Amino acid sequence: MSISQLARSIADSPTLRLNEQARVLKEKGEPVIHLGAGEPKSKIPMEAIRSAAAQVATGEVRYTPTDGIPELKKAIIRYMEDNYGKIVGPENVIVSGGAKQALAVLLTVLINPQDEVIITAPYWVSYPEMVKLVYGVPVIVHSEDGRFQPRLEDIKAAVSSYTKAIIVNSPNNPSGAVYTDDFISELVDFCETKGIYLITDDIYHKLIFDGKTFTPSYRYTKKDLEDSKLIVINGVSKLYAMTGFRIGWTIAPKPIVQVMVNVQAQTTSCPSTLSQVASVGALNGIQSGVESLCMMLQNNRNIMVQELSAIDGMHVTKPAGTFYCLPDFSAFNKNSVELCSFLLKKVLVVTVPGKEFGMEGHLRLSYCGTVKDITEGVARIKWALDPNAPNEIFIGDRKLVRDWL
Ligand code: PMP
Repeated sequence: MSISQLARSIADSPTLRLNEQARVLKEKGEPVIHLGAGEPKSKIPMEAIRSAAAQVATGEVRYTPTDGIPELKKAIIRYMEDNYGKIVGPENVIVSGGAKQALAVLLTVLINPQDEVIITAPYWVSYPEMVKLVYGVPVIVHSEDGRFQPRLEDIKAAVSSYTKAIIVNSPNNPSGAVYTDDFISELVDFCETKGIYLITDDIYHKLIFDGKTFTPSYRYTKKDLEDSKLIVINGVSKLYAMTGFRIGWTIAPKPIVQVMVNVQAQTTSCPSTLSQVASVGALNGIQSGVESLCMMLQNNRNIMVQELSAIDGMHVTKPAGTFYCLPDFSAFNKNSVELCSFLLKKVLVVTVPGKEFGMEGHLRLSYCGTVKDITEGVARIKWALDPNAPNEIFIGDRKLVRDWL
């Protein structure tokens, strides 16, 4: 079998791999606790269900324009005005099959072979691989302060004549950090001065806690969208619990969108018609579901941080948003892949190794599940790592006996 060099250079998705391992264990009846999930468990908005059902009932589910149905583009334009304070036109919007595809199509349009894309760590696992898929070079910039906040000086030091774009994701997967307004403001200024595209992945932008709100990058530019280097990626997956619908979008200057439409047209055509219709329902409908999701997550975040802080030697930075937490486990094991498999094998708790996010020594834990899963999951982790813990615990009616430490 002959596999291309490019394909061979692409890593598999660790989160999807772990999901599969957890599924197999669950199927065998094992009491697995999944703290690795990347999706809220809430129900999708009623308006989304109604809109999609009404469309199916017509018996007609056909191709749509490649860049999305006008109703959805209209809803996104309104969303931009309401949430970003930004007026954009339909020619600035393209709808894709999830934020993931939006980013993939965008990178195809922007990146020449050997162009560099700066990615701030910790980063979403897919960014480096997506850059490699278009023959670009991912350049990772680590945050120095241990609070997961990148510094402009480190970004400046990583910029070269090949730098084409910078991707930032705030609120951040996997750390839950929300980048400071000062940082975003400096970064916008820097990118516009240098002519570097600033791609903000805003997929978690309303999942911010403690009464704080999201600051869009547009706030810091005086440039018209058409002259600006700012590009926004967003979608319905996380805020509306619509991960399975696969709808995301890009907001960019018109010439970029035009070429993105060509690329998308030649690869996947339009996003799913039913999902687009459902997304119109979600965006135009009552938004109270997003607020209650955020409140629920804030409560879960508090519980997880409290439980983790009770583990001796654990260092945990309180997430300001998302549904992820990235505690530092290096006092227990500096190898996060090893620690992650240990926890899955010994106490049946799924976590994701920080190494995959450019943050070795850490584990990503999700708190989008139930409070019971959070408390029991962290209790099992604590038991597994604490040499002074009792020698045995019960998981359901199963007795676990320590054969390590
Ligand atoms: N960006 C980030 C930071 C994410 O965490 C995810 C999903 N895990 C995505 C993009 C992809 O979202 P979508 O489901 O819209 O493709």
